[in-house]
Amino acid sequence: MAKKFVYFFSKGKSEGNATMKSILGGKGANLAEMCSIGVPVPPGFTVSTEVCDYYYKQGNKYPSQLQKQIDANIAMLEKTMGAKLGDSNNPLLVSVRSGAAVSMPGMMDTVLNLGLNDAAVAGLAKKTGNQRLAWDAYRRFIDMFGNVVMGVDHDHFEEKLTTIKKKYKAEQDNDLTVTQLKELVHEYKNIYKKYVKKPFPTDAKSQLMAAINAVFGSWNIERAVIYRRINKITGLLGTAVNVQAMVFGNMGSTSGTGVAFTRNPSNGEKKFFGEFLINAQGEDVVAGIRTPEPIEELKKEMPKIYKQLDGIKEKLEKHYRDIQDVEFTIQEGRLFMLQTRTGKRTGLAAVKIAYDMVKEKMITPQEALMRIEGEQLNQLLFPIFDPIAVSKAKKIVTGLPAGPGAASGQVVFTADDAQSWKRQGKKVILVRHETSPEDVAGMDAAEGILTSTGGMTSHAAVVARGWGKCCIAGCSSLNINYSKKQITVGKTIVKEGDYLSLDGTTGEVMLGNVKSTTSPVISGVVENNSVAKKSPIYKMFIQIMKWADQYRKLNIRTNADTPKDSAAARRLGAEGIGLTRTEHMFFEGERIWAVREFILAQDLKAREVALKKLLPYQRKDFEGIFKEMDGLPVTIRLLDPPLHEFLPNDADGEKEMAKRLKISSAELKDLVKKLHEINPMLGHRGCRLSITYPELCIMQTTAIIEAAANMAKKGIKVFPEIMIPLIGTVNEFEYLEEIVRKTAESILSKVKSKVKYTVGTMIEIPRAALVADKVASKAEFFSFGTNDLTQMTFGYSRDDAGVFLPEYIEKKILSADPFQTIDQEGVGQLVETAVRLGRKTNKKLKCGICGEHGGDPESVKFCHKAGLNYVSCSPYRVPIARLAAAQIVIQEKGKSKK
Ligand code: PEP
Ligand code: MG
Repeated sequence: MAKKFVYFFSKGKSEGNATMKSILGGKGANLAEMCSIGVPVPPGFTVSTEVCDYYYKQGNKYPSQLQKQIDANIAMLEKTMGAKLGDSNNPLLVSVRSGAAVSMPGMMDTVLNLGLNDAAVAGLAKKTGNQRLAWDAYRRFIDMFGNVVMGVDHDHFEEKLTTIKKKYKAEQDNDLTVTQLKELVHEYKNIYKKYVKKPFPTDAKSQLMAAINAVFGSWNIERAVIYRRINKITGLLGTAVNVQAMVFGNMGSTSGTGVAFTRNPSNGEKKFFGEFLINAQGEDVVAGIRTPEPIEELKKEMPKIYKQLDGIKEKLEKHYRDIQDVEFTIQEGRLFMLQTRTGKRTGLAAVKIAYDMVKEKMITPQEALMRIEGEQLNQLLFPIFDPIAVSKAKKIVTGLPAGPGAASGQVVFTADDAQSWKRQGKKVILVRHETSPEDVAGMDAAEGILTSTGGMTSHAAVVARGWGKCCIAGCSSLNINYSKKQITVGKTIVKEGDYLSLDGTTGEVMLGNVKSTTSPVISGVVENNSVAKKSPIYKMFIQIMKWADQYRKLNIRTNADTPKDSAAARRLGAEGIGLTRTEHMFFEGERIWAVREFILAQDLKAREVALKKLLPYQRKDFEGIFKEMDGLPVTIRLLDPPLHEFLPNDADGEKEMAKRLKISSAELKDLVKKLHEINPMLGHRGCRLSITYPELCIMQTTAIIEAAANMAKKGIKVFPEIMIPLIGTVNEFEYLEEIVRKTAESILSKVKSKVKYTVGTMIEIPRAALVADKVASKAEFFSFGTNDLTQMTFGYSRDDAGVFLPEYIEKKILSADPFQTIDQEGVGQLVETAVRLGRKTNKKLKCGICGEHGGDPESVKFCHKAGLNYVSCSPYRVPIARLAAAQIVIQEKGKSKK
């Protein structure tokens, strides 16, 4: 039997159905399905995506059986409609539309009113009793066919329309009379002939074949290819072509057309949402020539049609069990549905619709969880801009959306200014080339942070995400001039004190103070605000998280450096701390001077003096964190970054440093110079610091264990996990482990405490992953530092890769930024290897991840599959990680059922 390439659909007689999207495309599959369930749809047929695939694979040729199948389907359509293509009494007119398995709105070609010629136009006029409609359809068809199918510039037709309108003093297209439209049709045919070098085709079947050809050809036009690339649409066979009997919404006051959603797609409200136009065709709605009316008005204007439409809406939603986005046309009081598809929605709507549908018993909690994307859930947590205000705002540049939310404020260029302006009650946006740990107080004071360099794991990005603060990083076209205190972007100049607004979800930077609102989830969950807890958004969030927790197997921890962050993360569901970066506390207040004294000290004694000053600060910090994390594990990492990061980098700072150390500026400069490293990321950092300065490891261990013992005495349950960073060999680990244990044991026996602690390591150097069996024979836990592991596996600097990564992704050398989504093939292989080898020698080895990937849904799912015990992420990513961890379990359950 010949292979089937064409599928017919008409009331109760469909050859396809909704499950056949891959070969019928979304539109074709749903048209067929709607016919089967008794929804009124103009009949037609779908030429499958397999034809598109064949066409491109065989060098623009069609399967030999295709023509025969199309002819048979035309005959069937003619019979169903009781009309004939090109007939002078009762012509059949069709629309020819594209439709891939994944919707690509407006990207490919469409031809309407096909089948018109000099005979059919007369037939259409007779049949409709409407000469104007017939000739207007004819001129539109020549324009559309000429442009879409034959590539004649639409402007040529448009110019002629303007000339004729001027000639007859017609203001609107609608003002042209039948005679004038006939003249226009004549002129349009001339234009067609001039550019195509052939007369306009009068044979309706030839028109149809040419239009089908054009739609298949449009699969690979530039905008469609780019759209697929941007939206990561891959693996499709091509587009299908839908040929469908035309219905006219422009046949007078009992006709019309519209688009609608079965629920509100921006806030999820269960209310029919849409617009329509009386006496119009679909393209009039899209072109925005006339302003459509809200769908409720249809209730007044055509109550019967509204009732029918409302019934269809209910039917479709029940049938598809999801929000639908529909198109409809009313022809002289008869309603036809032209399309239905799953409606695109905002984050808030996604959550509300999923939640409501469970309550309505339409879907299960598992399905609800699978329908919410991590980033959609995230949208509930952050302040958002008012969409109307955004549409009016001037966007000046787009950078990397590094920290989510919406922030507006006055521009300042230094961390000090950020703090002092805030003290004066102002809201500020801190603008820097890149931030450093020295800027943290200013970053904290700012509403949002904007940087011109640095990627998604740059300092600004990591810190901002940790706080749930809005940040746009790597805005390379920003020209920041610190001395003039201004930014230049193209011709726009932004001065200190001017307002900027940052959209951390899209990466857009806007001029002015754009209006925004706070999330009730954050007020309710993190700030414990009782009013916010009554908000439906808060309640939905709590319920969704409860469902997620019922399924997930992974534990979710957080990366937090302060008691405040720890508390916020715990409220958001963190089950412990996976990473405390001790260095983040080094900048606060007076302690930075003790840190600097330690770094610049010339002998052990001087270093010990400095460290003694630091000890109480660290101990207090840890006590605060243990208290907040009562009953949960807390992983604290020994000092990691290169030391020069803590030194002053301006003249004033150096002067004060010299004064405090009682040395000359020249001597200080000399000392600082000695600390300079060409390649600090591969230099004196991580465990290497404590190996060269064991006294540092002793001080930090002392602070941790004393804090733990003090808190335990107060009845707090403490589970300290001491983590050694950046090891590459087991010897490094062993050397430091011994110091840690000796120090810890001596303190515990001195204070008579029975606190239990563990010692483990980060795995962030590929070598460590490869010798994980040896490392695990000593270490009690592994935490994958996938920021560094990615940096060292690829050899891409995590701070500089922003320069070339976008192009790598654009050119498909990489499918995604490996600093955001874990590279499963390479870095992932190292993770899997290390887990496998590690558990060989240490069956109880606890494994987690604390790189930024711990908050990325795809990476979380990978971590589950790799057998990790937990993921650790920034406090405000905890809910996303909880959701992703549940989704992978549900996904696996679904697979094992099949
Ligand atoms: C990492 O490298 O993944 C990590 C968590 O450590 P840091 O980002 O502090 O280098
Ligand atoms: Mg690291």
